[in-house]
Amino acid sequence: MARSTIQIPGPLRSFVAGTREAVVDSVTAGAAIQELVRQFPTLGRHLLAADGSFRPSVTIYVNDQDVRYLRREATPLQDGDVLSIVPALAGGSEPVALGSEMPRDRPLGLEELRRYSRHLLLPEVGVAGQKRLRDAKVLLVGAGGLGAPTSLYLAAAGVGEIGLVEFDQVELSNLQRQVLYTTHDVGRPKIEAAAARLTALNPDVRVTPHPGRLTAANALDVLRGYDLVIDGTDNFPTRYLVNDAAVLLGIPNVYGSIYRFEGQVSVFDATRGPCYRCLYAEPPPPDQVPSCAEGGVLGVLPGLIGVLQATEAVKLITGIGEPLIGRLLLYDALAMQFRELHLNRNPTCVLCSPAATQTGLIDYAEFCGVGEPPEGRAERVPTVTPEELKAELARSDPPWLIDVREPNEWAIAHLEGARLIPRGSIPEHVSELAGAPALVLYCRSGNRSGTATRLLLDLGFTNVRSLAGGINAWAEKVDPSIPRY
Ligand SMILES: [Zn+2]
Repeated sequence: MARSTIQIPGPLRSFVAGTREAVVDSVTAGAAIQELVRQFPTLGRHLLAADGSFRPSVTIYVNDQDVRYLRREATPLQDGDVLSIVPALAGGSEPVALGSEMPRDRPLGLEELRRYSRHLLLPEVGVAGQKRLRDAKVLLVGAGGLGAPTSLYLAAAGVGEIGLVEFDQVELSNLQRQVLYTTHDVGRPKIEAAAARLTALNPDVRVTPHPGRLTAANALDVLRGYDLVIDGTDNFPTRYLVNDAAVLLGIPNVYGSIYRFEGQVSVFDATRGPCYRCLYAEPPPPDQVPSCAEGGVLGVLPGLIGVLQATEAVKLITGIGEPLIGRLLLYDALAMQFRELHLNRNPTCVLCSPAATQTGLIDYAEFCGVGEPPEGRAERVPTVTPEELKAELARSDPPWLIDVREPNEWAIAHLEGARLIPRGSIPEHVSELAGAPALVLYCRSGNRSGTATRLLLDLGFTNVRSLAGGINAWAEKVDPSIPRY
């Protein structure tokens, strides 16, 4: 028996009563995870497949090595080993400069010499590096929490062309972290506000807008011609799409992802190292990892992760330093800790290995099990509108109102007469709920209550519905005194 420590990442901590580490006695990695699941049974479906093997959407490390390249579940453990569970988050070789081999000859002008003098003073960057930056073309997919700091620093650094893919508009709740935008921009298309801000920061930079969503139909055309892509997305279908298009075009993908207080950064460059699919062959099941809109995110976190992405981009462009290829950097803001894990190329990766079977882009919504947008999935369960619910609550036999959000959201606002049962604890309350004449479940916007309604329907409930649009719709349509968030 060896005594080892299992580090539990943020997205899974709600299943282990907030525990950050567990100590287990076992001889193999597989037995250690089984022991963890014995202590916390609800973790089982997140970590293990039906046959007891590790799920492909979760990567297990022993110390800094991926068990898939050791002996998988049979990897032996020794006293003091540290196991890390690295879930997919809703993200060393010779330095080689990207783009043209030699920077174009046009000399830096007087203004450029002044603007970039602190770069020019660095022998590692110098005039040649600054010209490489001027010649570089970088595409940012997403101008949100990660894209905001990344694009600001790349524009400041003098990257010649910055492409932006973004479909959204600026919302008040974005401003807590998306420092590219101001209060005046609320309601404005992000791509328009971003282009204005970046051009104001550095008029030498050409900002190329790609309004709309990145899709399998347009991704290759959008990415083609860029020297590298920066993944600032917040969902798995787009993350896989960015990875696949970058691998097919042979350009590096500077990856970043965030969740609440934790982030991941890496550089996926299939010409020199692993791709995102080598790390996660499959996405986690839909709804397993909530989005920032559901789970929240510390405002400064994407600032730090985005700046790390910008740093890697500048290094790749100028060809200096050690790129984060084949390494996954993990950051925990609460512990203020950085850790680094070694990433291997998967010799059977469907996309980037010699045995690759995938030669083009696929249907990413289907691949990630999200056939329709989240609203669409929630709509497939019976719903009730805020106005209908108001009328039903006034009757003599009102439905039971169940709030499936988390206690901190309940503290922001909740509906009168409702009962708080967070979505994750619903299975423990099934027998009480079975006594209800009818049930209406609600959350913030209708997604979580939709999946909770689906869960109860699958358990045989027939009298359960989800409040369409959640408490935010109720606030909009019925009771404006309730804050929307
Ligand atoms: Zn791969």
